[in-house]
Amino acid sequence: MRLQNKFSFNFFEGVTFARMQILDGKKTAQAIKEELKLNVAQRSVEGKKVPHLAAILVGNNGASETYIAAKVKACEESGFRSTLERMDSDTSEAKLIDVIQQLNTDPDIDGILVQLPLPSQINEENIINAIDPDKDVDGFHPVNVGRMVLGQPAFIPATPYGIMLLLKHYKIETAGKHAVVIGRSNIVGRPMSILLSDNKNPGNCTVTLCHSKTTNLKELCLQADIIVAALGKPEFLKADMVKEGAIVVDVGITRVKDDTKKSGFKLKGDVAFDEVAPKCNFITPVPGGVGPMTIAALLKNTFNSCIQKN
Ligand code: NAD
Repeated sequence: MRLQNKFSFNFFEGVTFARMQILDGKKTAQAIKEELKLNVAQRSVEGKKVPHLAAILVGNNGASETYIAAKVKACEESGFRSTLERMDSDTSEAKLIDVIQQLNTDPDIDGILVQLPLPSQINEENIINAIDPDKDVDGFHPVNVGRMVLGQPAFIPATPYGIMLLLKHYKIETAGKHAVVIGRSNIVGRPMSILLSDNKNPGNCTVTLCHSKTTNLKELCLQADIIVAALGKPEFLKADMVKEGAIVVDVGITRVKDDTKKSGFKLKGDVAFDEVAPKCNFITPVPGGVGPMTIAALLKNTFNSCIQKN
């Protein structure tokens, strides 16, 4: 099935734009979740174990609550089991590691995720290192990062993995393209740069990894066939930084105050969508782009973990 949504932006008088196609993360993620649901139902009929994800939430950060709720709901939709461990915001690092170790040794648990960020008394690195690499479905453990870099089977961090699945779903030709990744975080930008440069499909890009100290960002972006914006600055990427026909993936999610919304905020990506989209061949929206794909990728990792263990 090829999901597409073609637009022709001819309402800007006197200007012709490339035909732009939305990379619909919501629909693509739905298709992945449906497929997983069928596979899980099949396992169930055959008397095999169904995937079980354990999520840990420390404290009650608003955005984290939303993300965790979405992950738990996605598990339910695909027939996975899920367990949510809630811990107080003043939980000690030792107590959290204790809970992780119990989940590590529980044969019923296939995947463990600890929702980030963590309260300041807890060292994130120590927590990631405490998770069994074979249950590390977020793909943040050094063992999985190492395997990914070497091109070995690994749990790939959910956001970059979701983006690769989206590019694959839309059969985007990436080989030989110049990809500019903006942002070098361990969870998005850096793994994204590695995956895009891999000798795989999608992959085989020539990658430039940009960050806050990059001095000629605009110049580099203007050379890019593919731009992945993952810096967390709302509407940072403007039309004058993007060449005609580019493929733009917007990872950013920032809550911006909006009194017209019941929640009091709206979500903004890192791309000034309205002005950039008309120049693109493909672009992801926010919301409905990378966000849902991240969750679908997490489910895929958890499903694969279950199969490997059982
Ligand atoms: P981060 O803060 O850890 O990293 C931001 C990176 O951007 C840094 O490497 C920094 O060097 C770079 N940067 C900052 N300002 C820059 C500038 N002016 N020019 C070039 N580079 C600059 O962020 P992160 O965790 O990678 O997340 C990035 C964004 O993606 C955030 O908005 C986050 O909410 C969002 N995110 C979305 C999903 C999803 O599922 N859609 C998942 C993870 C993160």
